[in-house]
Amino acid sequence: MSEHIDAILKAKFTQTIDGVAAATQFEPVIDPSTGKVFQQSPAATAEEIDLAVSAARRAQPAWAALSWDERHQYLERLADAIDENRSWLASVQTMEQGIALPASLAFVAYVAQCLRVIGKVRAQDRLLIDDDQRKVTQSWRPLGVVAAIAPWNAPLVLGIQKVAAALIGGNAIVLKPSELTPLATLELGRIGREVLPPGVFNVIGGGRAVGQAMVDHSGFDKASFTGSTATGIAIAKAAAAYLRPVTLELGGNDAAILLPDGSIDALVATTARIGLVNRGQFCAAVKRIYAPTALYDQVCDALVAAVRDVKIGNGFEPDVQMGPIQNEAQFEKICDFVDDARAAGGRILTGGKPLEREGYFYPPTIIAGLTDGVRIVDEEQFGPIIPVIAYDDLEAVIATINAGQYGLTGSIWTADVARGAEIASRLVVGTGWVNQHGAFDTTIPFPLIKASGMGVDFADCGVTGAMRMQIISARKDIA
Ligand code: NAD
Repeated sequence: MSEHIDAILKAKFTQTIDGVAAATQFEPVIDPSTGKVFQQSPAATAEEIDLAVSAARRAQPAWAALSWDERHQYLERLADAIDENRSWLASVQTMEQGIALPASLAFVAYVAQCLRVIGKVRAQDRLLIDDDQRKVTQSWRPLGVVAAIAPWNAPLVLGIQKVAAALIGGNAIVLKPSELTPLATLELGRIGREVLPPGVFNVIGGGRAVGQAMVDHSGFDKASFTGSTATGIAIAKAAAAYLRPVTLELGGNDAAILLPDGSIDALVATTARIGLVNRGQFCAAVKRIYAPTALYDQVCDALVAAVRDVKIGNGFEPDVQMGPIQNEAQFEKICDFVDDARAAGGRILTGGKPLEREGYFYPPTIIAGLTDGVRIVDEEQFGPIIPVIAYDDLEAVIATINAGQYGLTGSIWTADVARGAEIASRLVVGTGWVNQHGAFDTTIPFPLIKASGMGVDFADCGVTGAMRMQIISARKDIA
């Protein structure tokens, strides 16, 4: 149990606008382990959205005038402050999101690390031509003010990636977490108040209406969004009205393909680990497994053995490995997917029905006997359910995956790494993994394609995504 629970229940959570606390109207926040309201979150009024945008616009020029190293020092100080508040932030996140506390602590450590790593990235200017006639340089300038909108599955991690890239590139930002998990991010904003110049990092609350008002607002220079494909399309349409750049990190239906010589143990351990930590609510989790017919039963048995005895419960309970599904709509969606799979002839090898207790608890579920054409195989489940599909024809599997709407990531499992990389290169995905999956690294670009998004996150591409390229081309031979 966390020592912070009483304090979380009594706390007054506030937005951060222009470096000060703001909270006028409120919305309830639900604890997914009970399904009951446990706190209130401020939701931005139209006036507060305007205030946040104008504060960011006022603060941005002085922030951009700092050197990269000076901005990096600010990000390091924010990372230090996050580390000092790690236990508190992790506890708030566990209570609102449901994630087991040890994993929540690890996520907060990642958040601080992300600021430190992205803080070291520099957009590289280039001297393109320097001869007797011309000097031509290519430089990167900040865009201005970024509107950032995050989802509920990993609020702090997905929020900070946007904040780190925007701030190090000399932009100010207004960040809105999901209305389903607003509190830890509001606390991130409060911590930022102590460290960053006012107006540079604003955090506001609210749901769909606030998000839509942000992307419709004329005061932003870019929208950076993580969430569902449907919302991503709405945001791209709003951005089109201003021809404003967007980065969209959307859904995925990541396939893992086991080759006959691949390690079943490694595939199963990775699938279980990244599926369980956040209950499958992870954009780049393994969402379907293709196994050779000859190994099919062995793979299914190993998966069942890996997840059958997982300890499920309130994320604060000791030894709990898996908390509740984050929200009721997602919980209902998972129930529907499994019912649909059962009706289509799927064999439920373990799990397959919600736990009989309050809250949104659903056990890890392995489904065999399905082919493509069933929702759980074709669509994104975003939950702890894995369909295992038997195959004999690898080329047909690749063709099926490439015909799907998503293109986030995919993985090949094989003892022949070079062959794995060659097969991965034929998947139409942003990231092809070999003998790993969900292996995010902020120093490696993360491209977003098809219905999985637009733009590139992480590394130098993530930073230049929040900047504009400028060419200065000077004639030297005309005095
Ligand atoms: P969602 O689209 O319902 O909501 C995400 C955010 O958008 C919330 O803050 C919400 O308030 C806001 N929003 C809703 N409607 C809006 C509108 N019209 N205009 C502006 N903002 C609006 O998504 P979700 O259900 O919270 O997130 C789950 C999805 O996120 C999954 O599909 C998952 O795959 C995806 N995801 C993708 C990545 C990635 O990197 N590709 C990472 C994590 C999650």
